[in-house]
Amino acid sequence: MSNISSLFSIIKKWAKNGKLDSSDVIRAGVLVADELDKASKYNHKGKLKRKSFSQTAQEITLIKQAYRCNICKKKLDIINFDHIDGDRSNNSITNCQALCPNCHAKKTRKIE
Ligand SMILES: [Zn+2]
Repeated sequence: MSNISSLFSIIKKWAKNGKLDSSDVIRAGVLVADELDKASKYNHKGKLKRKSFSQTAQEITLIKQAYRCNICKKKLDIINFDHIDGDRSNNSITNCQALCPNCHAKKTRKIE
């Protein structure tokens, strides 16, 4: 667990310094985030703890999208994290995308 955490801080540092442009490294980050998610998903009673995306999932998503909206590709000032499949209980990193408020509102309206 602590090894995974320190690996993740290294990946984050690389991303910040612009050294991270290989999709392999990003994929590794996604795997790390998933492991962290699994480890922190349940409380000691075995009940689901989280109701939204973890900090790790959000950070990796932003790195993956190069801090741009996943739909209109504009640089993100205000970030909305969206459940891709619309299922709010599915907080897996693969179900997470970062959107600008505009695209998020449009997508939400389409679903309802
Ligand atoms: Zn957008």
